[in-house]
Amino acid sequence: MKMENRAALDRARLAAAVLVVCNHTSPLSSFTAAGDFFLTRVLARLAVPLFLMISGYFLERSGWRSARRLLKKTMVLYAAAAALYLPLNLYAGQVTPDFFRKLVTDGTLYHLWYFPALLLGVPIAKGLRRLGLRAGLAAAGALYLIGLGGDSYYGLAMRLPGAENLYGAVFQVFTYTRNGLLYVPLFLLLGAAGLRLSRRAAALGTLAGLALMTAEAFRLRSLGVQRHDSMYLALPLVMVCLFAWLLEENGGRRRELRQLSALVYLLHPGCIVLVRGAAGALGLERWLVGNSLIHFTAVTLLTFVLSGLILILRPRPLRPMARAWREIDLDALAHNAAALQKCLSPGQELMAVVKADAYGHGAVRIARRLRRTGVRAFAVACLSEGIALRKAGVRGTILILGWTDPEDAPLLRRWRLTQTVADEAHGHALAARGPVHVHLGLDTGMHRLGVPAEDREALDRLFREKNLRIDGVFSHLCVSDSLEKGDEDYTQRQLDGFYQAVDWLRSSGYGPGAVHIQSSYGLLNLPPQPCRYLRAGIILYGVPSDGSPTAAWPDLRPVLSLRARVASVRRLTPGEGAGYGLAFQARRETVLAVVTIGYGDGLPRQLSQTGGEALIRGRRCPMVGRMCMDQLFLDVTEVPEVRPGDLVTLIGRDGGQEITAQEVSSHCGTITNELLSQLGPRLSLVSHEGDAVPNPPDGLEKTALFSGAQ
Ligand SMILES: *Cc1c(COP(=O)(O)O)cnc(C)c1O
Repeated sequence: MKMENRAALDRARLAAAVLVVCNHTSPLSSFTAAGDFFLTRVLARLAVPLFLMISGYFLERSGWRSARRLLKKTMVLYAAAAALYLPLNLYAGQVTPDFFRKLVTDGTLYHLWYFPALLLGVPIAKGLRRLGLRAGLAAAGALYLIGLGGDSYYGLAMRLPGAENLYGAVFQVFTYTRNGLLYVPLFLLLGAAGLRLSRRAAALGTLAGLALMTAEAFRLRSLGVQRHDSMYLALPLVMVCLFAWLLEENGGRRRELRQLSALVYLLHPGCIVLVRGAAGALGLERWLVGNSLIHFTAVTLLTFVLSGLILILRPRPLRPMARAWREIDLDALAHNAAALQKCLSPGQELMAVVKADAYGHGAVRIARRLRRTGVRAFAVACLSEGIALRKAGVRGTILILGWTDPEDAPLLRRWRLTQTVADEAHGHALAARGPVHVHLGLDTGMHRLGVPAEDREALDRLFREKNLRIDGVFSHLCVSDSLEKGDEDYTQRQLDGFYQAVDWLRSSGYGPGAVHIQSSYGLLNLPPQPCRYLRAGIILYGVPSDGSPTAAWPDLRPVLSLRARVASVRRLTPGEGAGYGLAFQARRETVLAVVTIGYGDGLPRQLSQTGGEALIRGRRCPMVGRMCMDQLFLDVTEVPEVRPGDLVTLIGRDGGQEITAQEVSSHCGTITNELLSQLGPRLSLVSHEGDAVPNPPDGLEKTALFSGAQ
């Protein structure tokens, strides 16, 4: 996992926001027309392409999956900005029918064009990206060339045949060709390409490109062919070099800078109005408005002060890695899904079991990530879990494995959930409030849920219920985790009973639909089965239930790490005790670290007295004393450099050491399924994927950095 270094990008973003202010205040116009033209019509034209390239760069790194999030954010921001400036539109009498066209094409105020352009440009760029980066860039380049003809090359382009019709049509819709169709896609895709150059080459390229663009702009100006002056031939060249340059400059992340630049961009037109208003009221127009440099300075100062105030006054968000958290490695999850998909029999699919909040991993983000690996079926324990997934937008089949009150049949329909028929009476009761989609549970020997597989009459009666839409038939194995002879025989009898019932259904003309019987250990210990689904639970999360031997173990990676922090370090002299019941008694000079996690977070309370350990600074430290609800004690005498704020790993890796979920659960005489599913909601969830990591604490090297962030 790499730290994302983008402070250079964030600083450049702020500089670009100031350039945009220049663009709208023309600071040099009182002094030099040429200087003003250079600053506002040449240099400032780098600002928006930079915003776009940064967006494209990160879109590409997420495989364009963050496009939807970006669009949503843009829409919210645009709505807020449009509302903020609505009084100005009203005052200027601009709220006419044309206002609504502008809302979707040009933006409702001059600087707001960026938002509708992004909203249109992102889907277009995403579509072009599907052609491959090269072809996509070529297409976006062609669009940009068309745009050029309607912008700074207008007078020249209009001499070409057909240009009048073409641009006539474009200008029916958009006021400028600097828009989401002709301008935005190229810069998004150039950002996506993220060309790397040596720092020297990038810097030289930027300066040379800028010189070229300046010459181009002044030439076009002297020819008097410009309709607008946002687009130049040399602009993409400058941007590619400038961006490569920024990528070479490193530093930490500067989230506040990013927020500040967005605020500057949004607020400066309001500040222009305020400065002009104040100048009028105070009779200072000659200075505050008449002198372009003072005007610019006043507007910029006011914008920064207002933006800074907003940043300072806004409520500080809770940091998820401040106390105790579950860290979810979504790459490991995708890897496990792919590894399991390779083990399936032909035509078989994964049904991801995400009950109990995906075994404590966070059902929504697990399901979302799995959908992207092609998983189309999920299993949950109960109605509320199924509804929660649907509300989060998870599509596909969702099978409820447990009992649902037949009274709730309308909710099953409303949320398109598939219900397990728990026994015959349940099936009839559901049908009475039907129609409902169900999978029929068959009891083949576990004697928990399902209709006895050998009870053909019951099966017959249920299949005759018109209101039961039986989409599948399944059973559950209860000793498939064991390789003991007796257990293997029992599993075989369960399989035989299951397939006989399925065959009987088929021969009786009842389509059993999707049949399934294996869960994790059914995959590990059985030969491939002629089933539609594999219900994978614990192995999807990359860990075995316990240490029992299995016939196979695919290459799986643990998905969850459990971390907390050192709250306090204290020294005990021999004879002193610590914690409830003074259960720990120091026999030597002892250093104790108090750690910010306890049984209230779902950790088994006995763990601290049954050999539990945790990692600090890559070293194993024993738990001592009685675990409290919110804290536990580690004996860190052997790691004297431990400091408050240090990262503590209860499950997962730190440096060269690893504590597995299986190790922890075996200390407590349980299985990982129980341990993980108990991890409580008080633990925040932090997931990461690819390089897009929210500063990952992946070991000792970063521990100091982490505590620094406290
Ligand atoms: C929990 C459950 C599973 C998943 O079990 P794992 O052993 O975690 O794979 C599968 N099927 C049913 C019916 C379950 O209740």
